[in-house]
Amino acid sequence: MQIESYLCGQWQAGTGNSTQLVNPVTNQVIGEACGEGLDIKCALAFSRENGGQALRTLGYGKRAQLLRQIADVLVANRDRYNQIAQENSGNTSGDAGFDVDGGIGTLKYYASLGKKLGNPTYLVEGPAEQLTRDENFRALHILTPLKGVAVHINAFNFPSWGMWEKVAVALLAGVPCFVKPATSTCLLSYEMVKDVVAANILPDGALSLLCGGGRDLMDHLTSDDLVAFTGSADTANMLRSNANVISSNVRFAVEADSLNACILGADVTQGDAEFDFFIKEIVRELTVKAGQKCTAIRRVIVPKASQDNVISALQERLAKTTIGDPSDENVRMGPLVNTAQVKAAEAGLKILTSEAKVVVDADNADFAVDPAQGAFFAPRILLCENPMQAQKIHEIEVFGPVATVMSYETQEEALTLGAMGGGSLACSVFTADDDFANKAAIELASSHGRVLIVNEQIAKGHSGHGVVMPQCIHGGPGRAGGGEEMGGLRGLYFYHRRSAIQTTAERAQKLLDQGLALN
Ligand code: NAP
Repeated sequence: MQIESYLCGQWQAGTGNSTQLVNPVTNQVIGEACGEGLDIKCALAFSRENGGQALRTLGYGKRAQLLRQIADVLVANRDRYNQIAQENSGNTSGDAGFDVDGGIGTLKYYASLGKKLGNPTYLVEGPAEQLTRDENFRALHILTPLKGVAVHINAFNFPSWGMWEKVAVALLAGVPCFVKPATSTCLLSYEMVKDVVAANILPDGALSLLCGGGRDLMDHLTSDDLVAFTGSADTANMLRSNANVISSNVRFAVEADSLNACILGADVTQGDAEFDFFIKEIVRELTVKAGQKCTAIRRVIVPKASQDNVISALQERLAKTTIGDPSDENVRMGPLVNTAQVKAAEAGLKILTSEAKVVVDADNADFAVDPAQGAFFAPRILLCENPMQAQKIHEIEVFGPVATVMSYETQEEALTLGAMGGGSLACSVFTADDDFANKAAIELASSHGRVLIVNEQIAKGHSGHGVVMPQCIHGGPGRAGGGEEMGGLRGLYFYHRRSAIQTTAERAQKLLDQGLALN
């Protein structure tokens, strides 16, 4: 299958070398994408001129209706998408649902949020303030949608959710989207966009898709455009240091990799409810999408006295996790996305073993296929004896089912270890101790985008360590990229430009009345 790109309102095939997409279970080629030779500059201009103009005139409420229509198209094709996620990403049905339904759910959430906004076309921040002795001279701030294109560069692990969580906010804001999914898993993004285009929901140029290529994308951006990047910190750094991005001051947000942690409070011991939920959460994070989640738990921080019990409990649970072909309903964990990712995970694991030893190797595969053909990688738990002195365990993200256990002596040490990831997306704390819970929230907040604090009361009702909810911001400081996405209507700010307007009191009031105040 030749995977095309949707640019300038047309499906187009590239002319250069193609990249093959494989089924990671069998390594069989299932399609190829080629984005080389396509006129990116022209496609961006088309999107700015047509898509941007049309979207901006609609207002928030009407754009929210478009999101709802997109979601309806996706819901109608959900089963086919789950099948594609299995074939191209090695997803179990649960993994596929996580990605496909995550995308649909986010679109629906923003559709319902936007429905309540009416149809203003810009945001306001009032009241209008007096600036001089003249009472009639006032100033307010307005936020207008950027007049460029939102370039969305996505990682391979969420070809659906990663695409729609960005598109939902950008379209609601009135900014056209130019999506570049990771090539290795772009089949799902392609099929979804194809269905949305066929349904004729969006104005021309509101949604473009580039499958493969895009190496010159940064060179064609203008100061009206923005980039929302998700992927590795190395690629992010390379792209945001592009000469044109720097000289044109292109707005650039990064969601990168992260050494997320999970902390067991010193008050919790084996037999306590919080202990069981802690173990369950770690195993879930290791096995969902075979640990290929940016938010997955990489560092397990436990009181010294519980270290051995935690390792035994993890071993016991992981022994029950069947790894294999995700089309088999008994299989709980599928392969990594391709053999290149297996090599990368092996290389990362090797580095970690310079500071930690492997204490659980859950190689309990149940294969109906030849595992040597596929991209399988068994879950591993490591133990680091000197975590305060170690570096690599706080720096190297193995993008797969690998986590390192480390122990602490004092609460302060636990929180210091938690912050040692250099800036992370998510940290969770399992404790029944209210004082420690709130101390942890405040201490960990500055180094994390999200802190989840669990006790028995919410153990069954919380949304999960690794699950990104559109109501909350997603992103983290430092090595996690410094970006911030979603967070309800907060997400709109990234797609708007704030300007101060200085004018008469009457005109200022009129601007305030016709705009949308978010709070
Ligand atoms: P990656 O190799 O950094 O690639 C990310 C994206 O950048 C892909 O679409 C890739 O396209 C594109 N890209 C690479 N070089 C480019 C260039 N020169 N010009 C334009 N685009 C270029 O990351 P990945 O392997 O796909 O994803 C895994 C990483 O993403 C992990 O480290 C994970 O932690 C991180 N991640 C972070 C989040 C988050 O929200 N913070 C979410 C998911 C994943 P090609 O595929 O065509 O090379």
